[in-house]
Amino acid sequence: MTIKKILIANRGEIACRIMRTCQRLGISTVAVYSEADAKALHVEVADEAILIGPPAARESYLDMNKIIGAAKTAGADAIHPGYGFLSENEDFAEACEKAGIIFIGPPPAAIRAMGGKSEAKALMEKAGVPLVHGYHGDKQDEKFLEAEAEKIGFPVLIKASAGGGGKGMRIVEGRKGFSEQLTGAKREAKAAFGDDHVLIEKYLIDPRHVEIQVFADKAGNTVYLFERDCSVQRRHQKVLEEAPAPGLSEATRKKMGEAAVAAAKAIGYVGAGTVEFLLDAKENFYFMEMNTRLQVEHPVTEYITGLDLVELQIRVAEGQKLPFAQKDLKIDGHAMEVRLYAEDPANNFLPGAGQIKFLRFPLESDKVRVDTGVREAPFGQGDVISIHYDPMIAKIIAHGKDRATAIANLSRALDETMIAGPKTNLAFLRALLGNKAFASGKISTHFIKAHEKELLPAKAASSKEALALAVLGLLNEREKPAAAADASSPWNDRSAWRIGGAETETFKFTDHGKEHIVAVSCKKGVAQPDVTVDGAKFSAAVEPSSYDLSYDAKLDGKQYNAALLHEGRHLTLMYGSHHEDLHYLDPLAFEAEDDEADGRLHAPMPGKVVAVRVELGSKVKKGQPLIIVEAMKMEHTIIAPADGEVLSIHARVGDQVDEKLELIAFK
Ligand code: ADP
Repeated sequence: MTIKKILIANRGEIACRIMRTCQRLGISTVAVYSEADAKALHVEVADEAILIGPPAARESYLDMNKIIGAAKTAGADAIHPGYGFLSENEDFAEACEKAGIIFIGPPPAAIRAMGGKSEAKALMEKAGVPLVHGYHGDKQDEKFLEAEAEKIGFPVLIKASAGGGGKGMRIVEGRKGFSEQLTGAKREAKAAFGDDHVLIEKYLIDPRHVEIQVFADKAGNTVYLFERDCSVQRRHQKVLEEAPAPGLSEATRKKMGEAAVAAAKAIGYVGAGTVEFLLDAKENFYFMEMNTRLQVEHPVTEYITGLDLVELQIRVAEGQKLPFAQKDLKIDGHAMEVRLYAEDPANNFLPGAGQIKFLRFPLESDKVRVDTGVREAPFGQGDVISIHYDPMIAKIIAHGKDRATAIANLSRALDETMIAGPKTNLAFLRALLGNKAFASGKISTHFIKAHEKELLPAKAASSKEALALAVLGLLNEREKPAAAADASSPWNDRSAWRIGGAETETFKFTDHGKEHIVAVSCKKGVAQPDVTVDGAKFSAAVEPSSYDLSYDAKLDGKQYNAALLHEGRHLTLMYGSHHEDLHYLDPLAFEAEDDEADGRLHAPMPGKVVAVRVELGSKVKKGQPLIIVEAMKMEHTIIAPADGEVLSIHARVGDQVDEKLELIAFK
């Protein structure tokens, strides 16, 4: 049968990405959206869109009845679940079948077989796929698990069997910490997946995460589309993926591919799937789990194979045979993807949220691809990264004839990317791509930890060039409303300084405890001012954009494209690979209260208090855990920033706390 209309049971970048293929194939698309996503890009891109409920995923994107109801209302022949949400839910796949709607994914039985990490390991053991040594049985009492951990040998890893996204996972170094880590893992697993079943594995030292993309049709043809190396991780979660895996031998590639195909065949797999392995320095590999869906990082495989995996999924779901055999598949060049997240690398990559105030993506080409669910923001009115969903903003993917070229192309793409609003990992990603050890291909799952200092450099002093550009941005900002409203307005005449304005004006900044003075004189008009930074003179020119916060500037003949976000005394300046937070002594803005340093600790984001580790009057040491808050399905430990004594505690276990709410005060 031919699929003519697909409902996409997802949001964000993956929904938009699936629609791209559907549009190319002439298939109509139906979006579903929650109240939080009424203005989201995926709703705009779709041919039709149906509201399915309030922001909380449980009441919208995870509610199968509403989604199947929407598919029926729209008359869709098929549902594509994307990844996350209902993509690995066998009940959902079954419910689609019952409703006479094609589920674009594997059969429910295959999802069930790989659903729990424990069950999957037991199955793979039987199929002869190598496993990480460990315990993955049913017994769950603490004493028993501790004895198993002892047998396996520390360090061990406790994993939520229902786990995903690195949640419910704890490393245990020795018997001493076992009980507490088990409790933590179970609590996190229960909160995130409603199931606290865990397994225990030998914790491999410095492995790589290498996974195999498999594809199968309904006739039983099963192939592997080579590997992806996803070793570069923080919090056990991927942040950069590439294909092929650097330095992997042809023999191991073939062995891993064949093991993955065996795994897929063992469960009667159909469609796109990924078999995840850990790989050690001697190229021994061990099965971790199988993801029975499309992966976030599938674009790197698309680049090196020239295939559209979503199209293949649709064709296979229609009952067509795979149009190639294993021997027809070849690796073309090298591809690399980075995930741009709203998160704070300096604060243990804590996920963030908030409105995007400025956004600029690189131009797409045959070498650069951007998958996103948010759009560029005219005049500070961008999309919102919501606390209800994953904080990923975009994936930026590049291809090259070899790894070095892919890195160079991706670096250039990141230099063309600008974002202001929520904290992001953009500067971190740039540092990662520019890192020498990374360039040498010596990566492992500990890469980020091992290179933290180089990847998270302390903020350098702002350059004169940055201060000059910031001031040009401030001048430009004054011109904006006129420019935006009416290009022919006399107020928009850029040949003369604004009416009533002074000939020379000074702007003050503080940076690293030093004051900087930027003086501007506009004898030749505001478009061509002279700018003096701490006594050094630049001849300048500035040309605004009528669309957003960006402007073209020239300093002593050198050309820049910059953007400036002005929020009181805080300026965010972006140009090239620079992203600078500047402290501008704006005479019109009040100094924001600076209470970070005085011993008052706040909730990092809205969440629930799950543990309070101190009492009134407790003497604490720097780094000691004080309170644990669960937010966005993860536990965040608030630690003492210095030695001190607890003066007051403002939260109890079970409290729902708002962002910035004071939790603890101490001396
Ligand atoms: P999730 O499903 O939550 O993403 P995975 O089982 O896929 O969890 O593991 C996530 C990451 O944790 C892996 O990519 C790897 O970096 C690390 N990891 C998992 N198991 C082990 C192990 N036994 N030894 C060392 N690292 C591991």
